[in-house]
Amino acid sequence: MTSTVSAYAAPSAVDPLIRTTIDRRDVGPHDVAFDIHFAGICHSDIHTVRGEWAGVNYPLVPGHEIAGIVTEIGSEVAKFAVGDRVGIGCFVDSCRECGQCRAGEEQYCDSPGMIATYNAVGRDGQPTQGGYSGAIVVDENYVLTIPDALTLDKAAPLLCAGITTYSPLRHWGAGPGKRVAVVGLGGLGHVAVKLAVAMGADVTVLSQSLKKMEDGLRLGARDYRATSDPETFKELTASFDLILNTVSANLNLADYLELLKVDGTLVELGMPEHPMEVPAGALIFGRRSIAGSLIGGIAQTQEMLDFCAEQGVAPEIEVIAPEYINDAYERVLSSDVRYRFVIDTQSLR
Ligand code: NAP
Ligand code: ZN
Ligand code: ZN
Repeated sequence: MTSTVSAYAAPSAVDPLIRTTIDRRDVGPHDVAFDIHFAGICHSDIHTVRGEWAGVNYPLVPGHEIAGIVTEIGSEVAKFAVGDRVGIGCFVDSCRECGQCRAGEEQYCDSPGMIATYNAVGRDGQPTQGGYSGAIVVDENYVLTIPDALTLDKAAPLLCAGITTYSPLRHWGAGPGKRVAVVGLGGLGHVAVKLAVAMGADVTVLSQSLKKMEDGLRLGARDYRATSDPETFKELTASFDLILNTVSANLNLADYLELLKVDGTLVELGMPEHPMEVPAGALIFGRRSIAGSLIGGIAQTQEMLDFCAEQGVAPEIEVIAPEYINDAYERVLSSDVRYRFVIDTQSLR
C-alpha cells in the first residue's frame, strides 16, 4: 500500500512548478517514514528543473534539504523511533558495498552511484521525488538525526548547503592560521562563512558587490571584497590557502587562481551549466590546485549537524509558503536571497 501526499512538481523545464500529488512507497522493514516540516530551496533544484544538467524525468518534485518528524518505522529499524526529529539530504541510497560506501563516502559510490533524493530511480524501480512534499519514506541508513539545539526550519539547509561546505573545509584543513575565501554569498556561501569562522579560519568574502558587506562581516568574515572592483584582485594576490567557489555561474577562474598562495587550492562547489577555462600557467606558477567536492557522506553529515548544534551555527533563512516557490526561484536567480529560502510544507501534509 502506497500513500499519497501533496507536492510541488515541475511539469517541464519551462513551466512553473504546480501543486500535485505523488505516491510514497509502503514502509518496508528498514524504512523510516516522516512528515516533512521544512524543505530548503537549493540552486541545484533550479539547475535540475530547468534542464541545465543531465536528463530530467518530469514531472519532478525537487528538494534535498529536508527536515521533519518520524511518523512510522519498519519492523527492523533500530536507529529511529516515532517522534524523532530527522532529516535527509541529497541522496537516499547507494550500493552499500563498494569501497566508497564502506568508507562512509556514499556520495562517491562507485556503482551505480548514489541514488539522488530526486530525479533518480530507487531500488523499487520508481522515480525518486524530493522534499517539496508532505512526507517521505527512506531507508534508515540514509536518515540523519537533527540535534535538539537546531530548529527544523534552520536545520533543513544544512542537509545540503551545510555538508557541501563543511566537507571541503575539513578535507583541506580550514582552521586557525588558514586564510579561506568564500566566493558568492548565497545559500552555500553564507553557511561556508559561518562554518569556516567556527573552525577558526580567517575568512574573506568575495561577492559581486559590497551590497551584502554588513551581513558578511556579521557572519564572522574579517574581510569582504567586491569582485566587480579590479583592485580586489590586485590587492589579494597570493593571499589564500583555500578558496571555496560557490558561484552557480561561470567565472574567470584565472583571476581567482592568482589569489591562492603557493600550494593553495580552489575548490569548485558551484556547478554551472557550461565548462570553464583553466589556464595551465595559473596552476604551474604556484603549484596551485583546482579541485571539486560533492556534498558529503552520511557519517560526516551527522558530524556537521552535531558541530553546528555545538557551535551555534545556523543558516539565515526566509520561510515561505509553497505557493511562493516560483517567485523564490526568480529571486535566487537574481542573487536576491537572504540567504536560503525554506518552504514550510505544512499545507502539503
Ligand atoms: P545561490 O544561493 O544562488 O548562491 C550563489 C551565489 O553566487 C549568489 O548568491 C551570488 O553571490 C553568486 N553569483 C550568482 N551569479 C553570479 C554571477 N553571474 N557571477 C558571479 N557571482 C554570481 O546558490 P547555492 O544554492 O548556494 O548553490 C551554488 C552552486 O552550488 C550551484 O551551482 C549549485 O548547484 C551548487 N551546489 C553544489 C553542491 C556540491 O555538492 N558541489 C551542492 C549544492 C549546490 P553574490 O551575490 O555574493 O555575488
Ligand atoms: Zn543542494
Ligand atoms: Zn557504493
